Amino acid sequence: MKYENIKSALEVFDDIQGRINALNHGIGVLYLDAVTVAPKGSGEGRSLTMGALSSMIYEIISNPENVRLLDYLELNKDELSESKNREVTLMKESCTKLSRIPQDEYVEYNMLLSKAQDAWEDGKNSNDFSIFAPYLEKLVEFNRKFAGYYNPKLSKYDALLNEYEEGLTMETLDKFFAQLRETIVPLIEKIKGVKQIDSSFLNKTYPIDKQRELAYYAMDLMGINRDYCVLSESEHPFTSGFNNKDVRITTHYYENDLASSLYSVIHEGGHAIYEMGCEDEYNFTPLYGGSSMSMHESQSRFYENIIGRSREFISCIYPKIKELFPQQLEGVSQEEFYRAINKAEPSLIRTEADELTYCMHVMVRYEIEKKLIGGELQVKDVPEEWNRLYKEYLGIDVPDDRSGCLQDSHWSGGSFGYFPTYALGSAYGAQMLKVMEKDLGNVFEKVAKGNLQEITAWLKEKIHRHGNLYVSTKLFKNVCGEFDAKYYTDYLKKKYSEIYGI
Ligand code: ZN
Repeated sequence: MKYENIKSALEVFDDIQGRINALNHGIGVLYLDAVTVAPKGSGEGRSLTMGALSSMIYEIISNPENVRLLDYLELNKDELSESKNREVTLMKESCTKLSRIPQDEYVEYNMLLSKAQDAWEDGKNSNDFSIFAPYLEKLVEFNRKFAGYYNPKLSKYDALLNEYEEGLTMETLDKFFAQLRETIVPLIEKIKGVKQIDSSFLNKTYPIDKQRELAYYAMDLMGINRDYCVLSESEHPFTSGFNNKDVRITTHYYENDLASSLYSVIHEGGHAIYEMGCEDEYNFTPLYGGSSMSMHESQSRFYENIIGRSREFISCIYPKIKELFPQQLEGVSQEEFYRAINKAEPSLIRTEADELTYCMHVMVRYEIEKKLIGGELQVKDVPEEWNRLYKEYLGIDVPDDRSGCLQDSHWSGGSFGYFPTYALGSAYGAQMLKVMEKDLGNVFEKVAKGNLQEITAWLKEKIHRHGNLYVSTKLFKNVCGEFDAKYYTDYLKKKYSEIYGI
């Protein structure tokens, strides 16, 4: 087919994007359904449907006519707007990647993902790694192969890292993590030597219905419009955004842990605010959503830790918490509550980890993924290696795989190379705070007054509204200048030295 002019070519292009978006929307809703309300045994039918939908996307993207259309648009890129150019680039990228993956492998992989999710859940629930291991083996095998398809010039793990943060390499991460270790390990050591914080009151019985009420209160405080963002429950909290008026977040309530769900909601709420802050015109295009996983994590972890675990935020939310749980928190002062939710202590579960030790959990996963994808570690040896690294980095013994290598859903979802974005995102957030303070003055004075609007508005202006218009590293540089992990290590040092008086 010949294109008469740019206008007619763009009409075809928009139609293709619309169809891909619709199929992805369907896949996303099925996934959401699977992990929230679908019956346990429903995996088989769903995996067939997901396989069929994925193969439709594959057919659209890999159609030779689509390739010709993209070539035509690229040739005439001077006549396209900045955002259209980016859309073309993004589709071209997925097209090139996908065209390298044979269709049968692509479909098989997507069906595997659906089954792996159930196997991981079964394995975790019954504390039996051997249930998940055969699926993990296939997932690793596929990802090793796909890495070569994505970018044959890069080493396999670098190619996978690139999927979540363009330009990220093992070299950069090795340096970054070494820098974090230099700060965090001595801090953990010093903290061990001083009086420990009592946080036992956080593990009293906190009825779920009251926790739910608190979750909604936190969402309102963060300025999340609940007409466009809904909260539900799943094993592992996450966020799905379909467009800026349809965002879903989930949490997991534990009756004996008040902080767990509250901070999951604030974390996922940060992701939701990002998704909802994207320009309307990017809805239903690949420009909707965030610019990278690291950038996304920078937002969620900014709200969760920098804001949510600040003394000022606690002063704002604690009266409500006290009102909901007067007996459980009888005699607990605001300052004691603040210290309890910032207690730093090596622990087993990443998502429950405190702000200081969190990155050590990420490093364990990074080392394992690097070796799995690099072919230096066998799946059967993952539990042993996991436990060894926990001992080395955090000094603790892992009692079982449920609280060890089966705790996260990432690998069952086929995500290898994702974990480092959590640590990188945390560091991005600390650097953003510095810039924000230059623009807005004392950020925490605003937080103390419950005024998060100005903070969210700043983030929207600088980050959220752009969606995926810019490559993440460029967007970061535009806002913050050169990336420097020192902002993050300084932030941690200052915060924890003050809390522990060290
Ligand atoms: Zn997150």
